[in-house]
Parts: sequence; structure tokens; C-alpha cells
Amino acid sequence: MTIYAQWGNNPGVHAASTMMLGHIQTNSVSMFTNLCSLLFNTNLSVTAPNVFQLFAGALPDMTVSVGSTQTTDYSEDLMQTLFHELGHASLFHKVGQVYWTGVISQITWNITQYASTSINYPYGAGTETLAGLIQINEAWAEFIGKEHHRRFHPNGQTIVWSMGIKQGYPNAIENDRWFFNLWINTGIFYDLLDPANNEMNDGLDNFSIQNMYNCFGPNTNGFCDFRAKFLQNNSSENTTTMNNLMQNQNQWNGNCFNGWPNPIKL
Ligand SMILES: [Zn+2]
Repeated sequence: MTIYAQWGNNPGVHAASTMMLGHIQTNSVSMFTNLCSLLFNTNLSVTAPNVFQLFAGALPDMTVSVGSTQTTDYSEDLMQTLFHELGHASLFHKVGQVYWTGVISQITWNITQYASTSINYPYGAGTETLAGLIQINEAWAEFIGKEHHRRFHPNGQTIVWSMGIKQGYPNAIENDRWFFNLWINTGIFYDLLDPANNEMNDGLDNFSIQNMYNCFGPNTNGFCDFRAKFLQNNSSENTTTMNNLMQNQNQWNGNCFNGWPNPIKL
């Protein structure tokens, strides 16, 4: 993994990304060029060719930016962010380069389209062509970040970070149903993992992270595909129980529709 670390201009701001460009064989330099021009508003290959060559020779798999006043002490929320990013990186190895190129192209499109709007870019509104890839990618990464945090600070005494706000466990992981927007649901993974039938319609318990991870692949274009693969892999579980859990988590109905327009498949 090639990781760029960066001091931010502002205090207290953490931003990170997992582009996996060092692991993508096709068009990775041009994707990097596009992202640089969007983020820095300049074509680095023209304005700073030596710097660009340096970057192009070691394209970032991950970038981590911390605020200018960040101390070198352990930071809970930065650690959670790093494990969120590692969740992305591990998912990459299951879904592959074509999938990831789709994620990057959708994010690039979103940044261009929504820069001066109220829509949560770079994730978008959930209605974009490849929104299903963003949905799976962000939902999984956020779950991994929070679940690591929960295990690292056990016994329910601690907090997890949710959208920059400290929340008491289990609320932030169990009931925090979304990341940035309602269509990116994170709580379903925790409800599958936890041992307790502790919520209305939470009839699926004790599934491992590995079991859930095994449900992802190059064609997992949203939660509907995840659900189908989960039921295929765990054939003793019935569809109604899974549907009820998803409905409880985020109002998905039997057709796997939660009020947000269904993403178009690849
Ligand atoms: Zn993310």
C-alpha cells in the first residue's frame, strides 16, 4: 500500500480516501490527473511536472490528511477513520479493479456535478448511475471503522464517531443507520453480526465479518445484490427474515427498495 500523509491547512479536519490507484492497472495515471485537477484546481503535470512525476511513480492507494493542530498523540477518531479506509482497501481485493474504477469515475463525476450544490458530494444523491457501488463501498467501510472502534474500546463504556460527532455505543453503531445519507446504510452489517435479537425484526444473528465479506464480488452493485448473495451463501436463512431486517434498518421493502431510486446496474 502506498499511503500519502498530509498536513491540512485547517485545524481539526480529517479527510482520507482510498483510491487504490497503485493497484489499478488501467488508466490509473489519467484518473490521478483528473482527481488532482479537481481537488487542486490545477493540472499538476503542467504546473509542477517534477512533482507530478514523483506522484505518478508511486500513485496513492490511500491518502490521509490531518488538521494543522493535530498532535502526535493517539486520536480515537483518526484511528476510526483509518480503519474505515482499511475497510475500503480490503473490499477492493474482493470486488476488483473494474468495480473500483467505477467507484472512482462516479466520485469524479459527483465532484464535478455537485461542487456548488447542497448534495453530499463526493458520495452523491444515490440516484447516479453507479450509486450502488458507492452505497456498498461506504456502508462497508463505515461499518469496519466503527466495529474496530467498538472492539478496541470494549464494554460499551466508550463512544464511536459518527459524522464527526461522538455517540455512545451501541447507538452509533446499532442505530446509526446511515453514513452521510440515508441510502448508505451501515447498521445492517452490525445487526447481522450482533448476537442478540435485540431490535424489532432483527432475526439474523452471529454472522461473522468473513461471512458478510464473502457476499461481495465484482457484481455487488448495491444492497439488493448483497442481500441476494447473503441468502445464497446462507441458504438456511429465509428471505422474509432478511427482508424484515432490512426493512427495520432502512425501510427497504420486499423489492429491495427503500424510497431511494434503485441504482442502475453496471
Ligand atoms: Zn469512505
